[in-house]
Amino acid sequence: MSFRALAALATTCAMTLAQTPIVTTVLNNGTTTSRYDMVILGDGYQAAEQTRFNQDVNTFLAGLFAKSPYSTFSIYFNVHTVFRASVDSGADHPDVVPPIVKNTAYSASYNTGGTARCLYIQNTSLALSDAALAPANESRILVMVNDSRYGGCASTFAVSYNGASMVEVQSHELGHSVAGLADEYDYPNGLYTGTEPNQVNATVSSVGQKWSHWWGTEGISAFQGAMYHTTGIWRPRADCLMRSLGQPNCAVCREQIVRTVNGIATTILNPLPASQSLTVARPSLQVFSFTNLVPAANNPLITWLVDGVVQPNQNTSGMFLSTAGMTLGAHTVSVEVLDRTPLVRNDPANVLRETHTWNVSVTDPNAASLRITANSVTPQLLLVGAECDVAVTVANDGPAIANNVLIEQFLSVDTTLTTSDFYLGSGTIPQIAVGSQQSLTRRVKLPWSAVPRVYQLFTQVNRLGTISEPSMLDNVQYRSVLVQTGGCAPKLEYRDDLHYPKDTAGVSLQSGGIVKPTVIAPCAAPGTLYLLAWTCSGTQPGLVLSPTLTLPLNFDACTTTGLELLNGNVFQLAFGALATNGLGNATIAFPGGLSLLPTPTHLAALLLDSSLQFVGVTNAIAFNLQ
Ligand SMILES: [Zn+2]
Repeated sequence: MSFRALAALATTCAMTLAQTPIVTTVLNNGTTTSRYDMVILGDGYQAAEQTRFNQDVNTFLAGLFAKSPYSTFSIYFNVHTVFRASVDSGADHPDVVPPIVKNTAYSASYNTGGTARCLYIQNTSLALSDAALAPANESRILVMVNDSRYGGCASTFAVSYNGASMVEVQSHELGHSVAGLADEYDYPNGLYTGTEPNQVNATVSSVGQKWSHWWGTEGISAFQGAMYHTTGIWRPRADCLMRSLGQPNCAVCREQIVRTVNGIATTILNPLPASQSLTVARPSLQVFSFTNLVPAANNPLITWLVDGVVQPNQNTSGMFLSTAGMTLGAHTVSVEVLDRTPLVRNDPANVLRETHTWNVSVTDPNAASLRITANSVTPQLLLVGAECDVAVTVANDGPAIANNVLIEQFLSVDTTLTTSDFYLGSGTIPQIAVGSQQSLTRRVKLPWSAVPRVYQLFTQVNRLGTISEPSMLDNVQYRSVLVQTGGCAPKLEYRDDLHYPKDTAGVSLQSGGIVKPTVIAPCAAPGTLYLLAWTCSGTQPGLVLSPTLTLPLNFDACTTTGLELLNGNVFQLAFGALATNGLGNATIAFPGGLSLLPTPTHLAALLLDSSLQFVGVTNAIAFNLQ
């Protein structure tokens, strides 16, 4: 093999070597998803100079993390390096005579944009693809350039030479690329005539209104000159790393760096249980915990919430949840960590508060879970006082058998169910096995006192909650029914909440009770009077009022008593004028403690015109003294 061929082979090997970047994680504080990841590339380092690159990285990181605010938050960072060897050592110096031209990986060059000390790279696409080889970066890519001539610049990349001021230069450039900070130096221009800068550390306000929350602290005020202009623009502090090397970051710059890093880094780590959704069987205890990344020196405040309610005296990184007193179904447990670092005074995006939430489903091995799967009404067009069939099917999705499942129907004028809507009674499904469903059809009678209109006929399952369930939301359904007028015959029925059937009621002789008999006379002339009558001796043969009218009750001592007590405390509004809707609403407040034998009694009403002539009678309804 000739010397020439050997040389060619060596060059090929060197190029192959140069084309294989070496990826190293030099600072590992946790998963890339939980940390602020930075990548450092090297340019102008030959393969044999990788040790120098590693030393430069170490020197830079030691210097950076000695500076505030990086010193406080160093554990929030991961740092990776990607080393691609260059053919030549150093960078281009196009502004010297004769120009120095080097063959380097990313073509670093001084005098970028005509500024002698602006050291930046030309082959940005290769630098980007190399940076992408690292486990992660937050688009924070630093480039160390192996050249002793002072220089640095930042745009997509933060670039610095590796000489004596490297730490200062690169920390300054990082201020641009991490926190979007402005340069605070004021050369080479005069008056600034632009608009308000987006950067936090420069303003056209001569008092520095933008950083008013820092006024008077650590030398923060407003100093004219920034962003390459001597006048018309102000900076927060007389000096700052963003103005001069060797200076600390001023409070305004520091605050922005902290907010940016906190916006990326996760402070609630290793939440346990690891899954955000869990099921807990009542009455078990469940432990929740996490690792708190916020430095203790920042005085973090830990708050635990259950269903959004702050738990008193729970301020550590663990909490016991007792499910004994909790309802079945969905709940949330949250932990909030507030970083109270004095480095941030204004946190509009709330990056210093982090929350982790678990969705907890509390179950009960003894709980059924009922759900209406089908519901129909036949017919859906009917007259007042008519009957219809309501067929309902109920499934039991829960892990326990449901016994004595209460099924109730209501008639509501709207889609909201209340217990003062017309009650249409109840039925019971004796048992619904686990994973099965059962049907019940009830024939219900619409109240005479319903007015013609569209109603919603509701079916509700387990309204009283006697069967423990994780959720009652699927226990109600309704169907629309069109109710029409039922003719002119006067009727009497009870209109009490949760009372059905409408033609039978009872009160206790011992403790008394209240019922509300209602006269319905839809065709009665205005001014028609009603009178409620009572009997203790049955409805047959009844009391003949006229050749065409027989009141369906037998006149007896109870009838006399009722008339004597008319419109008193017991038979309230038992005599009066019908309202314009044809209704007469009486109330019987039956006193307790009466020494009577249990008796079936009845009520019926008669109608009179204004000259007290009988014009109608109603049906009788049962009123049992029991
Ligand atoms: Zn500053």
